[in-house]
Amino acid sequence: MQSAPQSGVQRPDRACAAPPEAARGTRAAGHLRLPQHCARPALRTREADALQRMLRARGLVSVCEEARCPNRSECWSQGHVTFMLLGSVCTRACRFCAVATGRPAAAPDPQEPLRVADAVAQLAVRHVVLTSVNRDDLPDGGAQQFAATLRAIRSRRPELTTEVLTPDFQGDCAAVASVCAAAPDVYNHNVETVPRLYRRVRPGASFERSLRVLAEARRLRPAAVVKSGFMLGLGETREEVVALLGALRGAGVDSVTIGQYLRPSLDHLPVTRYWEPAEFDALAAEARALGIPQVASAALVRSSYNAERTFEQIRAARAADSRRVVAE
Ligand code: SF4
Repeated sequence: MQSAPQSGVQRPDRACAAPPEAARGTRAAGHLRLPQHCARPALRTREADALQRMLRARGLVSVCEEARCPNRSECWSQGHVTFMLLGSVCTRACRFCAVATGRPAAAPDPQEPLRVADAVAQLAVRHVVLTSVNRDDLPDGGAQQFAATLRAIRSRRPELTTEVLTPDFQGDCAAVASVCAAAPDVYNHNVETVPRLYRRVRPGASFERSLRVLAEARRLRPAAVVKSGFMLGLGETREEVVALLGALRGAGVDSVTIGQYLRPSLDHLPVTRYWEPAEFDALAAEARALGIPQVASAALVRSSYNAERTFEQIRAARAADSRRVVAE
């Protein structure tokens, strides 16, 4: 996602970028043609335009726009937006991410949590997703801003459920604890790719560190949903993906998103392969067989795509399990 000189960024909503080819309605990312199942037309709707105006009026940023998510028309038309905290400039430079990279100009805005809560109060949604740029320049990596925003939202709309998609906080467990103390219903941190590709895809990030963040979230929030996600199309093998799913399950992850990497620009990593829809389905089945209860796997799946529905499905499944246990 974003930033300048340093290293790997935890990119909030990985692979959200629609390739320039897709925007033109043609194809060819690197040497590969964009297949039909990876294309989505960018339609303007009245609802999406109104949401954009509302964000602008409040000085808020969304990962939907910053990462050029291909699902924006659909999500925004339903009022589903993923708020990006702490500005639009990331201190890392992941090579797949469209978010701007550099040295953030500002300290956290103490009014931002209130502005987000005010925006959320206008939306007809039941579930809110927050993410942020990497802020390695801040002592807590921005964890307190997540916590303050969760609390501000809860004070305005206590009935809403909440989801955070956090950076790795450089492995700082105290930062993870700060976020968990504000009681998100879903704690998401994306591993983005298989461990072998980290140096190329997420320079400066560490797979083990990301796994620790997930395990720590699971430990601190045993009743919450712990979620992660990654992209296909960066050079991974099927065997590596299956091993990755096993590692995520081992860390306590119970919801996984798998989507196709789409190259945001010619300055980003090329797509090595477009995975077929049947392969996404097979990986979902594999993940479930490994014990991951909830899996969304398709080319245009992104971390926060259908997040509300996903969370409600998990909650319903858990409630059904509890009833079954009581009945037995
Ligand atoms: S999938 Fe997520 S990032 Fe993309 S438009 Fe929807 S809410 Fe925004």
